[in-house]
Amino acid sequence: MKRRVFLRHSAALAALPLLRTPAAALAPTAQRAAPRVNGARLNGWLAKFDSIGRTPGGINRVAYSEADLAGRAFTLDLFREAGFTPRVDTAGNIFGRLDGTDRSLKPILIGSHVDSVTDGGNFDGPVGSFGAIEVARTLRGQGVRLRHPLDVVVWSNEEGGTIGSKCAIGHITPADLDKVARSGKTIREGIGLVGGKVERLSEAVMKKGDLACYIELHIEQGGLLEKAGLQIGVVEGIVGLRWFEVTITGFANHAGTTPMDQRQDAMLAAAKFAVAVNEAVRGVPGRTVATVGRMTVSPNTTNVIPGQVVLTVDLRDLDAAKVARFTERFEQLGREIGTATRTAFDFKRTVDSAPAISDPQVMSWIDGAAASLGFTRQRMPSGAGHDAQEIAHIAPMAMIFVPSVGGISHSPREFTKPDDVVRGADVLLNAVIAADRP
Ligand SMILES: [Zn+2]
Repeated sequence: MKRRVFLRHSAALAALPLLRTPAAALAPTAQRAAPRVNGARLNGWLAKFDSIGRTPGGINRVAYSEADLAGRAFTLDLFREAGFTPRVDTAGNIFGRLDGTDRSLKPILIGSHVDSVTDGGNFDGPVGSFGAIEVARTLRGQGVRLRHPLDVVVWSNEEGGTIGSKCAIGHITPADLDKVARSGKTIREGIGLVGGKVERLSEAVMKKGDLACYIELHIEQGGLLEKAGLQIGVVEGIVGLRWFEVTITGFANHAGTTPMDQRQDAMLAAAKFAVAVNEAVRGVPGRTVATVGRMTVSPNTTNVIPGQVVLTVDLRDLDAAKVARFTERFEQLGREIGTATRTAFDFKRTVDSAPAISDPQVMSWIDGAAASLGFTRQRMPSGAGHDAQEIAHIAPMAMIFVPSVGGISHSPREFTKPDDVVRGADVLLNAVIAADRP
């Protein structure tokens, strides 16, 4: 721990009243500093965790792999070391509870995940998971009694499609369970492997009203905070996502004998469409993003005019109305380009997930927590998916973002500075205390 950090930390500790302090009495005032987590301990856990699943290509803790199991064992130990008795639910999610003083109140839930993508980094998930454990440990260590129970959760298989949190809201289908995860095992097998019980999945389901709120700390995975020179992002919601598969049909013919004005070139139409999608989105102010990410050309041969292209569009925005408007615009562009190139465009929606909007009250607790700590911040959407988007179906939620260096994530170069990790956990701690206030 740096001397400066240590001094600040001990000052905050000294300012805390003795054991069994009602958390409500901890509201920061001009005289009393906002409480802080043990940042050195938190960063120490992250540093140790970096060796689990580390390969030459990056962190490989894909769900249900040996490394994922090792990561979960490490996490269970952190719970125990913090004085909690962790419980694994039937979906394989890990829970630890700090009891509250009022039995009539529903739990405040905080947490994230510890599985990774293939060749990923050590911060996507663990920052929020260990940050949450550290928050609970700090509260217990400082003798702070919350009115609400505080549950810390580490969701299983986030990267494979928010599986653990989907199970927790009852949104998993038998077809989902039969899908093969990146580890090569089916989700059904994987849940069993991590200590869940697929035949009793309903026991893991939480209903509307079962939680006071959900707060997830996470790395930004983009570069907006760094670019703006800000410390904390207060997430306004997780963008809606719509995927299209667009089939463009022209006519495959001889590349040497067909004159330029007599072609029905599906590749040319696809290229015009990719440019048009980009220009359409850039022409409207806002944070909409759209990507033509994949093209399959047939016959994909040097001397034949392409007869067909199948391409994908990924469209995201926090505002469902904008997603709808751009959907119409893209279909219109397809018709126009189709006419101009004598090709036919056929649109099929393959994925459609609605935006998950953060709760204004939970956002204000996060805002207030960051303000009481003197951290700079902004409200922003999350362009990536998170477990919080599932929990939004049943409980008021919001997320805390900390900066990603270079905006890089899902990469071995993913990095968040230790001071930023600590700031995020400090905000989480103070947001929990704010959420607990009568
Ligand atoms: Zn994540």
